Amino acid sequence: MGSVLTLVNIVADEVARKYPGRMVGTLSYAYTKVPPNTLGPRPNVQILYCQNQCFIHSLDDPSCTQNVDQYNKMRAWSEMTDNLHAWSYYFNYDRRGLQLPLPNLQWIKSDLRTKIALGSRACSCRRSAARTKMSSKNCETTY
Ligand SMILES: [Zn+2]
Repeated sequence: MGSVLTLVNIVADEVARKYPGRMVGTLSYAYTKVPPNTLGPRPNVQILYCQNQCFIHSLDDPSCTQNVDQYNKMRAWSEMTDNLHAWSYYFNYDRRGLQLPLPNLQWIKSDLRTKIALGSRACSCRRSAARTKMSSKNCETTY
């Protein structure tokens, strides 16, 4: 994430100079999920952490290695910024556009609480870009 965050911080500095009070958002997704060791986001940078969590276990389940990894990365980001935002896939989706149940419905409530405890200020829930009438509908919850 260091190279991406370096660029985002440069943009954020310019935005802060020209448009005080405005935020710059960036994704922490795929190869940018690991927070850098020595660099932090500027105060006007919002980190949108995109979870790649296991849907079988809750985010804070210590027995799930995948979720422990996600939990630890979110915690590391929350220690760097007050502008952490979570992106989750809580809706059922399928590449073919089929609406399938996900086994994560039982964890939504506790996962939202965990994200709040980790410092996340908001959560976006997204559908996939599947070919459905609902595919463009997303939700966002600000705590
Ligand atoms: Zn799991």
